[in-house]
Amino acid sequence: MSFSPDTIAAMATPLGTSAIALVRASGPQASALVAGIFGATPPPRTVQHADYRDGAGQLIDDVLFTFFAAPNSYTGEDVLEISCHGNPYIAQRILEDLVHRGCRPAEAGEFTKRAFLNGRLDLSQAEAVMDLIHARSERALAAANQQLRGSLGRTMNGLSTLLIKVLANVEAYIDFPDEDLPPEDRAAVLRDLETLRAGANRLLVTIHYGELLREGIRTVIVGEPNAGKSSLLNRLVGRERALVSADPGTTRDYIEEVVAIGPHRLRLVDTAGLNTAPTALELRGIEKTFEQAKAAHLFLWVIDSSGPPPRPSADLARLMAPGRTLAVLNKSDLPRTRTHDIPAGVRRVEVSALTGEGIDVLGDVIVEFAESFRGETGDEIIAINARHALSLERARGSLDAAVAKVNDGESIELLASDLREALDAIGEIAGKIDNEVVLDQLFASFCIGK
Ligand code: GDP
Repeated sequence: MSFSPDTIAAMATPLGTSAIALVRASGPQASALVAGIFGATPPPRTVQHADYRDGAGQLIDDVLFTFFAAPNSYTGEDVLEISCHGNPYIAQRILEDLVHRGCRPAEAGEFTKRAFLNGRLDLSQAEAVMDLIHARSERALAAANQQLRGSLGRTMNGLSTLLIKVLANVEAYIDFPDEDLPPEDRAAVLRDLETLRAGANRLLVTIHYGELLREGIRTVIVGEPNAGKSSLLNRLVGRERALVSADPGTTRDYIEEVVAIGPHRLRLVDTAGLNTAPTALELRGIEKTFEQAKAAHLFLWVIDSSGPPPRPSADLARLMAPGRTLAVLNKSDLPRTRTHDIPAGVRRVEVSALTGEGIDVLGDVIVEFAESFRGETGDEIIAINARHALSLERARGSLDAAVAKVNDGESIELLASDLREALDAIGEIAGKIDNEVVLDQLFASFCIGK
């Protein structure tokens, strides 16, 4: 704990009126704080009931408090947790008093940063704490829990162990420059490198799934005016959110709704109908459609199956790649006019937004779509984030360079630098980051008190 002698304090719960609020302090002074405020330091990890009086002896609240002795606490330092009544004024008064008694207000993410620096969590676990706080779907929660329990760290350790083995093998030859690996050993090195590359690739493909879990599935509802986009949105949301109208083109802007679909979360965007002769106001709406469409994970292409075949604009059609488009043939309660021309590879689902028929099937298909991005990572869900992806890409680049050298018949010791680079890059994921700036940036994205 030599890195920071400060004792930090912050509210661990949001400012607001609630049943309970939690204020906590962490650092070398925590034990003295307990004694100063409550008279004596109780056995660690026992809940105590006491009056909280400020430095001037004024009663603030009756509270429950727990003292955690280092290293058995979240941060690995001495920690004091105080549960007071959930009144922001009370919590603020306690926090002010703690500062008065020598604590420093914590910076965003500082508790978790200390947990990391004290070896309580690796970096991927620290990130999982954030994911856990923000998880809003069953899968996102499961992924965050598994990462917090070290799934990603263990996978990275597996890769590091193999890399170190290959590196040791290669470095043994550095001392004997005149000798080179016998062909069978060369083949073994190549096999290991391929295993490592495959491992990195298996993880890298999970970046998309990670995005679907962390952000929700960004879903854009497109289709011609009157196809039933607003009705479908309402049906999925389960209440009247968008104004449904029999006049074409009534949705001028876009509306976003978040809905749970099975174990996933959808961020649904209903966009302006794509009129062939749009008014100025509609043009703005159409612009927004394109903005949203560019960032979409999934298109729900709503088609009025009782009307003439739709003609999506060429620009929109380009964005709607078959792999991320579902053709929602709406108005299945009405007689179908003719077979609609849906591009090959686009999955189709028949629904009636009016009666609700087919909506469950649509939900199942959406879940299937999301799950198709789940990587081949066995029973554990691994869903990397953008930082992990950068490191893995760096590792893969170095591994590619190493494989190329073996294939070109270059002297085996030339691989050492590539392998060391790959090892560094892989090490960054679980947290061998020496760069203070990178660490500060990472933890600054946390909330205060976390
Ligand atoms: P949007 O312009 O694509 O948003 O379409 P709306 O949701 O506003 O629907 C246009 C019209 O079609 C409204 O009169 C709806 O009541 C009607 N409509 C929507 N879905 C269905 C459906 O499944 N069956 C029938 N019969 N009518 C529907």
